[in-house]
Amino acid sequence: MCFRPAEAELPPVMCPSCGKKINRIGGALPSKCPFCKEPTDGIEDAAAAPAAPAAPGAPAAPGAPKPPAAPQQ
Ligand SMILES: [Zn+2]
Repeated sequence: MCFRPAEAELPPVMCPSCGKKINRIGGALPSKCPFCKEPTDGIEDAAAAPAAPAAPGAPAAPGAPKPPAAPQQ
């Protein structure tokens, strides 16, 4: 691919209400669709978000720590 890194940013999303492209401003969607004023909450989630927050290796939840092995005495 010959796209520049700048072009590799998140693509614009389609407004589910009016079907127009909502361009991102500074990498973020506006709070409302500039065409039909539909709130953009959830639109980005519906569109496959490539930036998955799941980091490999990160602990999912701070569960109860295992008790240390019985002291050998
Ligand atoms: Zn719209």
